[in-house]
Amino acid sequence: METSLQDRLFNLIPPAMIMIVLGFWAFGPRPLVDHPWTLTVTSPLIVIAVLLLEAVHERHAGWRMNKQEFMTDLYYLVLSATVIAWLTQKLAEEPLVAIKASLGLNTAWAGDLPWLVQVALVIFLIEFGQYWMHRLMHNWTPFWLTHAPHHHITQLNAAKGAVGNPIELFLISLSVVALFDFDKTAIFAALNTMGVISVFAHANVRADPPIWYSFFFTTIRHHSLHHSTDYESTRCNYGNSLILLDRIFGTYREGEGVLVGQDDRKRLTIWEQTLFPFAPMIEKYRARRAASEPGPAGPANDPDRDVAGAKAAA
Ligand SMILES: [Zn+2]
Ligand SMILES: [Zn+2]
Repeated sequence: METSLQDRLFNLIPPAMIMIVLGFWAFGPRPLVDHPWTLTVTSPLIVIAVLLLEAVHERHAGWRMNKQEFMTDLYYLVLSATVIAWLTQKLAEEPLVAIKASLGLNTAWAGDLPWLVQVALVIFLIEFGQYWMHRLMHNWTPFWLTHAPHHHITQLNAAKGAVGNPIELFLISLSVVALFDFDKTAIFAALNTMGVISVFAHANVRADPPIWYSFFFTTIRHHSLHHSTDYESTRCNYGNSLILLDRIFGTYREGEGVLVGQDDRKRLTIWEQTLFPFAPMIEKYRARRAASEPGPAGPANDPDRDVAGAKAAA
């Protein structure tokens, strides 16, 4: 099939956006790149830009944005930028910095590295942690129960990477970057670069970047396969932004998914996504209560009844 000029241009937009992000944090006006709120603006700007691209060059009509999806995605974007970010700061990053200080660790060398090396290192450190956390989530039921809501999404869009159970969103945000004295702008450039990659990896945009991009970075092809409805297809391509890690650790698989979701593609509400990890406990409690009450045995009294989340990656 011949690729149109428009397709070819769109295929280059993800790498072009990374160049813009790097250029901004490297050469942008000092007062702007040093301002503490700039990252809070650039991160949603990336999502908005890709959402606009969805509107003009969509990948699948079945993934088209609607009001319900938009409101859910928006809720999670705000939750991640506020509650989850605050929890990560208080429960992970500040304790890490305190441990580092009490041990007298000096990592000033990190900030002396060439700027682009720092960006690459930050990406690698964060992605390495996320890769193994993601694999753990697919291989151990308690962790799967926090990750399963993300796999219940029934369509892919720019902000879908932010949709998931709050416990998962917290776990996936953990990293050891706070232990190193990297240049702040290098950290922000890394976060926005991963933002561009993972937003495109979830987006309904017809953009298939060239191999010099997709060899290293996760694309919608890799990640839509991971979101497929069948169990086997979800057992690959764990890299959030660095698909290179799947190539290194033997979990890379070629392919693409169109139908995405779990459990007969049932769409979960925000409430169901939030309670999901506790569903087995709630079911057990209900079954026990029903069993202790006199009356005929019904499906609600059967403790073996399939509970939401029982379809763990066991
Ligand atoms: Zn997954
Ligand atoms: Zn995903």
